[in-house]
Amino acid sequence: MTVPALKVLSAHDAPSAPATGAKPALVEAAAVAATTYDAPLESDALLGTYKRAPVEFTGGEGVYLVDSAGNRYLDFVSGIAVNALGYGDAGLTAALHRASDQLVHTSNLYWTAPGRELAASLVSKSFADRVFFCNSGAEANEGAFKFARRWGRTVGEAKHEIIGLRGGFHGRLFATLAATDRPAYRLPFRPLAPGISVFERDIEDLSTALDAETVCAVILEPVQGEGGVRVLDAGFVCELRALTAERGIALIFDEIQCGLGRTGTLWAHEQFGVTPDMMTLAKPIAGGLPMGAILLTEEIAQTIKPGDHGTTFGGGPFVASVAQHVFGRLSDPALLAQVTENGAWFGEQLRELASRTGRIRQVRGMGYMWGLDIMGTAGHVVSEALANGLLTCTAGEYTLRLLPPLVATRDELARGIAILEEVL
Ligand SMILES: *Cc1c(COP(=O)(O)O)cnc(C)c1O
Repeated sequence: MTVPALKVLSAHDAPSAPATGAKPALVEAAAVAATTYDAPLESDALLGTYKRAPVEFTGGEGVYLVDSAGNRYLDFVSGIAVNALGYGDAGLTAALHRASDQLVHTSNLYWTAPGRELAASLVSKSFADRVFFCNSGAEANEGAFKFARRWGRTVGEAKHEIIGLRGGFHGRLFATLAATDRPAYRLPFRPLAPGISVFERDIEDLSTALDAETVCAVILEPVQGEGGVRVLDAGFVCELRALTAERGIALIFDEIQCGLGRTGTLWAHEQFGVTPDMMTLAKPIAGGLPMGAILLTEEIAQTIKPGDHGTTFGGGPFVASVAQHVFGRLSDPALLAQVTENGAWFGEQLRELASRTGRIRQVRGMGYMWGLDIMGTAGHVVSEALANGLLTCTAGEYTLRLLPPLVATRDELARGIAILEEVL
């Protein structure tokens, strides 16, 4: 059986009607292509890949960043869900100092303790039996795809197809981009990695597409981040878990943004009562140092042999010992309970804000991860909020995304809402 072409959303980057009533994919892509040429280049020697806000930060304290003129900004971006502990955290600073007094790098030709210990910690608090360390989110997903294919080929040569979902974001490299549902990111770089397609979040479509002989993995974010902060439907995730288990297809949860406490549970998938076969982590895991991780079951791990995969810096002693500290903090039940309670309160406040201002179409999220569909473009609100001392970011053109540090107090969350209200 082959994957039905009609239901594949991304194989040829054909125009498709988004589920949310946003503009059709091709229109969005054309608009981006038209503006690419006159996009301003970065100043100085930096390549112009980012549309940076007109501010330069020089320091930070708690949930505030400080710019070069000494202005303070309440940070509801957290370095895109990286700085879960905020800025100037005493424990993190001490961990960084301790780590810098020890070995920084030896390569993976040898053993060092911090990586082994961190892997043991992650395994002890998750579904997983093994861990592979790398350096970023995209690299973690790319590695998970390789592991899925390696494992798939122990079943049959044709079992190599990977499926991503509508609204998913998995990184900017060729394979992760192929699983990412964002035409503007994909179109200029075709051809992307083959054997990877994006499907609607529809269990009936997927049931047809998930052929046990050709599909080795499905990847999804339990709470989609870049795709607009969408908490996946619990029934859908459970059915997909059952379907993939029944057909011997690996289910990969990309918890790079939603994992490690962001939703109020250590792992976002705890909210759905299911476990994956692999899970990828990155953003907050090492307190701002670059690190990614792939957590996997013994069954998949057993098919991976020396030489199948590797990376020079992955799991080095410096970054791993800092991550051990961060993981201890983020897995602390007291912190998680606070994120759950304050997060629920924050959601209520955001819904009230929506009804007071009439400028917000929809409020979605959980824990310290929220998306507000704005009437008008979200970018406008980001600029205005910045001018008023609040950092926010977007998730697509119409969604304002809020990712406060997990240590933000209720008062600090309330302060952010007050600024937002003024701006709206
Ligand atoms: C940020 C992100 C990635 C990519 O991580 P990088 O470190 O930027 O490569 C992948 N998946 C999700 C869900 C993300 O939020």
